[in-house]
Amino acid sequence: MRPVVLCFSGLDPSGGAGLHADIETVAALGGLAAVACTALTIQDSQRVHGFEPVSPELVGRQAEAVLADLPVKAFKLGMLGSPAMVDVVIRIVAAHPDIPVVLDPVLAANSGGGLGAEGLSKALDRLIPLATLITPNTVEARRLAATEDLETAIARLVSRGARHILLKGGHEPGAILRNRLFRGDTLIYESTTARLPGEYHGSGCTLAAAIAEGLASGLELTVAVRRAEEYVGTALSRADRPRPEGQFIPRRTGGLPT
Ligand code: PLP
Repeated sequence: MRPVVLCFSGLDPSGGAGLHADIETVAALGGLAAVACTALTIQDSQRVHGFEPVSPELVGRQAEAVLADLPVKAFKLGMLGSPAMVDVVIRIVAAHPDIPVVLDPVLAANSGGGLGAEGLSKALDRLIPLATLITPNTVEARRLAATEDLETAIARLVSRGARHILLKGGHEPGAILRNRLFRGDTLIYESTTARLPGEYHGSGCTLAAAIAEGLASGLELTVAVRRAEEYVGTALSRADRPRPEGQFIPRRTGGLPT
């Protein structure tokens, strides 16, 4: 049986982020993505126009149906959208303490459009201690920890129970992009890559899904992170941009680049 990753994510109709990213990534790496769909968003390659959450009860039932039937080996948590959704996810994740959890704390799209209701950031605090890994970019880390200083942000997230933090540097200025992986507040892995030109829709979702697939396959965390970074690098280097003013959409699956 392929390693099954149960993803909680929203539908992005442009195909760049959310559940498309999860399904394509997990499948490309050899796994099976099961999805509990948390929201229907309205967006294109340029911006978020709105979203409507799925009822938390329905999301819980989607997840429970999958968990009762398939051998889920990792959870990947993406757009949750509201505190009520966070509570349902906590209930499900807490009932399966042996299944690793990758939490991408989605608050907004890369384009800047909000993807969360009032109180989401605070509600995610309750989920953080249940995650094997959280994958904030620097904007999300600052918002979650309510501080501008990144070292303080890491310390605050650890004090709230974060076990591993992958701090993604894509939103920081400069030609070199730096990701740092912490166990508690100890740096255990660091990577640097040259920044690609342009903006990429769904790059964070793709990275988190690839890590979750790695954990579902039994890879050690730093190995899963390194492999996921390589995978994302390839998907972004082959991305398409539908409009010159819009974001690139990663090419995560096979087919010859055009
Ligand atoms: N989940 C959904 C449904 C989204 O639409 C987005 C962004 O548009 C995200 C997650 C986060 O995407 P990114 O990986 O670009 O941060």
